[in-house]
Amino acid sequence: MKKILTSLLIFCAFVYALPVITVGAHVSSGNKTEDKTTQKENTDYITAFDIWNDTMRELTERAQQSQQSQASSEQQNQPKSYDENNYVSVMIQGETVRLTIKDYLAGVVAAEMPASFPVEALKAQAVAARSYMLYKIEMSGQTHDGGAQLCDDYTHCTAFFDIAADGKNLWGDDADYYAERIYEAVEQTDGIVAVSGGEVIAAVFHSSSSDMTEDAENVWGVKYSYLTSVSSVGGSASPNYYGTVTLKQRDFCNTVLAKYPSASFLTNPSEWTGQITRSQSGGVLSIEIGGIKLKGTEVRAMFELNSTNFGIELKNGEVIFSTVGTGHGVGMSQYGAREMALGGAAFDEIILHYYTGVQLMVKN
Ligand SMILES: [Zn+2]
Repeated sequence: MKKILTSLLIFCAFVYALPVITVGAHVSSGNKTEDKTTQKENTDYITAFDIWNDTMRELTERAQQSQQSQASSEQQNQPKSYDENNYVSVMIQGETVRLTIKDYLAGVVAAEMPASFPVEALKAQAVAARSYMLYKIEMSGQTHDGGAQLCDDYTHCTAFFDIAADGKNLWGDDADYYAERIYEAVEQTDGIVAVSGGEVIAAVFHSSSSDMTEDAENVWGVKYSYLTSVSSVGGSASPNYYGTVTLKQRDFCNTVLAKYPSASFLTNPSEWTGQITRSQSGGVLSIEIGGIKLKGTEVRAMFELNSTNFGIELKNGEVIFSTVGTGHGVGMSQYGAREMALGGAAFDEIILHYYTGVQLMVKN
């Protein structure tokens, strides 16, 4: 009895399903030779097909709605990206533009550090740039024409490179690869800044220093607890680690006299320079030239030297400056960061090494 009932059920199911399959085949075949009988069959069974279609549509819609609500609840649970959700106004090449912090920082990292550096060094650079950006906006009190918060002048804010517009020119076929590395460095440090005493720091940086970085007070005359002199290795990997500037003695004298008319060069050239004082890192704090005491930073600017860590030699009618390192030497050394990253250090270790006593925090 049970067997008969089962057979009957299978038969009924088959009879019910057959027209649906048939109609489905016709619908999809687009066969125009169908006779009237077939068309009538289609009409007869169209209701069943529509019901099946409607059911499927409803099920599909429900599934989509469920997926959407799941995605939206996942989005809500995910922490918001600080860098993507906040904007800055930046004066770039004289024009003020509005950028997400993410795009701005990517442009800064691209402009300030070789994209081929290890990712942890790029990440340290992103954190330094993010901290410096907020410091400039919130703490420095400096302004820009047109109300921009930042600019692309590295002597005032930080340099900026437009990856989307100029990436191909700089990196050629490797443009996508390098752009990806830079964005990765920014994204993986989203919202992370260095703070000291609860306030975001002026996370200045430079290309390379001697084996010690410079104390900010020796360069800018202002003390910052987190910009002290610390050890630094790897600077010599920089192609500009050693530099020379050679001038004719006459030009040397004229340059000094233009700013200090009371300087005297009437004596033997070997007596034109006098006492030199140096910082712990080797940077010239002061030097006597033509009887005038000049700051090392002043001499660096006057003769466009790579750094204040210089020696001076007068011979054969020439003045030769020999420099070590590139940049002001304060804060993070980029070649030092590279060296640390190559040695296995993570970006936070690099930041904590170069900025004395700081903590890292995440903005949101
Ligand atoms: Zn600026």
